[in-house]
Amino acid sequence: MGRPGQNPISECPLLLAEWHHEKNGDPHKYSVGSNKLVWWHCSLGHEFQAKPNTRSAPLAKQGRITECSVCRSTRQAEWTWEHILTTATQIKNQRGTLPPVPWFQKNGYSTMVNAIYNIGKTWLDVRQEIDSHETSSLNAISRIGIRWRSKAEACLSDFLYARDVEHSIGRRYPPSYAKVSGKKSGMYDMHFRKPNSNEWVDVEIWGGHPGGEGTVEYQRVRQAKTDFHKGNRNFFGVEHSDCYSESRLEFLLKPYIGELPVVKQGHELDHTVPTIRWSTYQEVLDFCRQVAALQKDGIFPSEKWLRKQAPYENRMGDAYPSLMDKIYQHFESIANLRKILGQQDHNRRNWSDDIVKQELDAWMKRYGRTPGVIATAFKNGDTNISQSEVRRGNLIATMAQKYCGGVTKALRSIGYDVKPERQKSSALSMLHLAASKIDNIAKNINDVTTSRDIRLNVKKIYLYANQLERKVDELNQAAERSEKNALQTA
Ligand SMILES: [Zn+2]
Repeated sequence: MGRPGQNPISECPLLLAEWHHEKNGDPHKYSVGSNKLVWWHCSLGHEFQAKPNTRSAPLAKQGRITECSVCRSTRQAEWTWEHILTTATQIKNQRGTLPPVPWFQKNGYSTMVNAIYNIGKTWLDVRQEIDSHETSSLNAISRIGIRWRSKAEACLSDFLYARDVEHSIGRRYPPSYAKVSGKKSGMYDMHFRKPNSNEWVDVEIWGGHPGGEGTVEYQRVRQAKTDFHKGNRNFFGVEHSDCYSESRLEFLLKPYIGELPVVKQGHELDHTVPTIRWSTYQEVLDFCRQVAALQKDGIFPSEKWLRKQAPYENRMGDAYPSLMDKIYQHFESIANLRKILGQQDHNRRNWSDDIVKQELDAWMKRYGRTPGVIATAFKNGDTNISQSEVRRGNLIATMAQKYCGGVTKALRSIGYDVKPERQKSSALSMLHLAASKIDNIAKNINDVTTSRDIRLNVKKIYLYANQLERKVDELNQAAERSEKNALQTA
C-alpha cells in the first residue's frame, strides 16, 4: 500500500460517511488526497463542495476530518464580539486569570478563537477589553518580574533589564514635594541606578493619562513635578510614547547610562526582537502562528491579505489592521516574522530580469510545464503539486510579466521553445474580470452552486467566442478566394 493519501475514499470511514454518492458516484475512484472538487453532505444535511485533500490532510494526525463548511460558518457567526467577551470574562472569573490561546483551543473553544481573528480582532484585544484598567494588565509584567502600572513602564523596564541596569518600582516623593506642589504626596514611576555608580535616577513617564476632565489636573501635576526637579541631573522625565521606541530610549537614556550592549538574552528570540517588546512578543507570535495555521498552505499571509487590500479586498473574513501594527512593533516586517516562523522561503525576493529568468529556468527543469499550465492543472485537480508551490509559480509569472514582458518572452530568451500565448481579446478579458468579481461575491456567502454555474457559463462564452472566430476566419478566407477568382477571371 502507498501513503495514506493514496488510499481510496471508500477505505476512509470518516470521509465515506459524508460522501455524496448521487453527485460524485463511486468513492473507489477517488483517493483521500485527491484535489478534485467533489460533493459532500454532513450529518445535518448540508450539501457542500470541498477537495478530499483539504478535508483529510489538516487534521490527519488527530484522526479527524475538517468539518462541513456550512456548519462551520454558522457556528462562527454565533460568536459575536460581545459573546466572546462574556465567555472570556466568565472563564477568567472561574480561573482567576485569563488562560492563553492553547487552553481555549484544547477546551472546545477553537471556533471562538477563530471567530476572534475573523472579526478582525486579536487575542490582545480580548485581553485589553477584559483588563481594561492598565493597573491589572497582564501585559504590564516585565522580564524582571515586576507588575507595572502601565505598559510604557513595563517596556522601559525591559529596556533597562536587557542592558543589566538595576531598577525598581516608583517610591513616594520626598515631603519637600508637598510644599512646592500643594499636593499631599506624589509617586515616582520608577528608579534606576546609573551603571558603575551609586547614584539613582528618578523616573517620570509622562502621558498615557485619562483624557477629559482629568487633563487639566494632569497638566498641573506634571508642571509641579517638572518644577520640583529643575536642575536635578538625576531626574529622567520621558514621554509615554517614547517608551515604545527602542531608538528613542537609546537616545534619551544616553546621558544617564551611556551606550550599553544588550546582555540579558535568555529566550530564543531575544536577539531578533526589540528589547522593549520582550514581555509581549511571545503572545503576538502565538497568534501569528494561529493566523498562519488558518491559511490553506499554513504560510503567514501578506500585508495586503491582512489589510484586505487588492487583490484580497473580497476575501472572506475581516481585516487585521491591529495585528499588522503589532507585527511592525515586534518584528519590524512580515519577512522577519516569517523567518522566525521558519517560512523565509516564502518571502518576496528582490526581483529583476535576471532573477525571473533564473527562477523560470529552475521551475521548468523541475516541472517541465509553465506556471500557467501548472495552475490550470491544479484547478482541475490534475496535479499533486502543492498550493503554495502553485502560488509561487503565479508570483514568478507575474514578475515575468513585469520584468520580461511575459513568461513566453522570458523563456524564449533563455532558449526554451515555447508557443506564443494566444492573445485574449479585450471583450473576453472584460468578461473574465466581471465573472471573477461576481464569483467572489458568491464565494463570500459560500454559494458554491452559483460559483460553479458562473465558471461553467464563462467557459460556454469562451466556446462561442472560439466558434465565432473560426467562422470569421472562414468567411475571410472565402472572401479572399472569391476576390482572387474575380481577379483571375477579369
Ligand atoms: Zn453541515
